[in-house]
Amino acid sequence: MTDTLLIKGGIIVTLGDDNKVLRGHAVLCEDGRIKKIAKASSFKGKYKKVIDASGKVVMPGFINAHMHFYSTMVRGLGKAKPSKDFAEVLENLWWRLDKKLSLDDSYYSAILPLIDAVKRGTTTLIDHHASPFAARGSLDRIAEAVKLSGLRASLCYELSDRDGEKIAQDGIAENVAFIERCMKEKGGKLKALFGLHASFTIGDKTLEKASRIGRGLGAGFHVHTAEAKSDQDYNLKHFGLRVVERLHKFGILGPKTIAAHCVHVNEHEMDLLERTGTAVVHNPQSNMNNAVGVADILKMFHKGILVGLGTDAMTVNMMEEVRVALWAQHLSHDNPNCGFVEAFTSLLFNNAKIANRYWDVPVGALKEGWAADVILIDYHPPTPFDEGTFLGHFGFGLAQSFVDTTIAGGKVLMEGKKLKIGVDEEEVAAKSMELARKLWERF
Ligand SMILES: [Zn+2]
Repeated sequence: MTDTLLIKGGIIVTLGDDNKVLRGHAVLCEDGRIKKIAKASSFKGKYKKVIDASGKVVMPGFINAHMHFYSTMVRGLGKAKPSKDFAEVLENLWWRLDKKLSLDDSYYSAILPLIDAVKRGTTTLIDHHASPFAARGSLDRIAEAVKLSGLRASLCYELSDRDGEKIAQDGIAENVAFIERCMKEKGGKLKALFGLHASFTIGDKTLEKASRIGRGLGAGFHVHTAEAKSDQDYNLKHFGLRVVERLHKFGILGPKTIAAHCVHVNEHEMDLLERTGTAVVHNPQSNMNNAVGVADILKMFHKGILVGLGTDAMTVNMMEEVRVALWAQHLSHDNPNCGFVEAFTSLLFNNAKIANRYWDVPVGALKEGWAADVILIDYHPPTPFDEGTFLGHFGFGLAQSFVDTTIAGGKVLMEGKKLKIGVDEEEVAAKSMELARKLWERF
């Protein structure tokens, strides 16, 4: 029997270009893809597995377009000095931590957020990794965790010059090795980008080299861009260019590149991002947590930039992040009547457009031939629920509800809120804690 899964009952929300809310329909998944969506009565065959979605909304799994698995290891760490600005947050916390990460730390720091992602219905993650003194082999270790979880992930290593030339070379080599691996594994759930930390930590020589090698491999780049004003100040002072101008000069921008944050970009930089087809990924919780500001995604949407949503490791729960994205626009524009469509579009529609620049089988909509990445959320709509009201239900109802079932590539990873990935969460957490204790001693 082929690997078939029928999801019947429930309300189907397809998302995608032609978002439909369907009742009385069923979704048939076969060999990892969606085979057919039709009236439930038309499915009369025998299926390997049938899931009853009554009382639930059936929709595509969420996509997190900017993540750092390794940040798991700081949870509860009280040793970092208080920081007065973002530059100090990097110096006092992240750059002290990542220098001490071992390959095992990288593996265990990934597996727990991946399990959490299954629980929250996030089926695709685009990660950005740093472990400068254990860079080589780190992406393969994280990939092991991704494979174990059954989810889809794009990985990259964040190249920078901050730890000297040898480590910068390691960063380049790690990106190249993982990009080449993913090129060989065509059709798989793993993908690669060429990671760059940020313009202010990469000198001209390294940036030129990374650009040449990355473009030679046909890879896009994943880079923190104008996250804080200090990034702009540094670039203007040392290179005489604004951040996006410098990335453009070195050929880093383009339709496969992700510019994370873009909190401090001006109109000219937005025009460059739009003209080059570069995707911007907005991370409102992180930006507010670091007190760096709020990206003006309204202006970016208006200019036609593809703006997606990430969490920068603040959470793997996209339903939480998207609500914050809306409140942040209200507050920053001093207007309670703006940003509704933009915030929800970034998560529900644009993240799929970003992901589909990388994955061979398209994700992010329930469509025949697309990846069978499907989630079931408990939901009984208390008001009319259709295409016209969906975003309101999503933001104020579904996003407050519970993910019941998570399926990625046709594999059931959680059902009835019970994990099915064959990982003992308690055991993994205990091992992670043991490693974290040692890491904190080295910190
Ligand atoms: Zn980040």
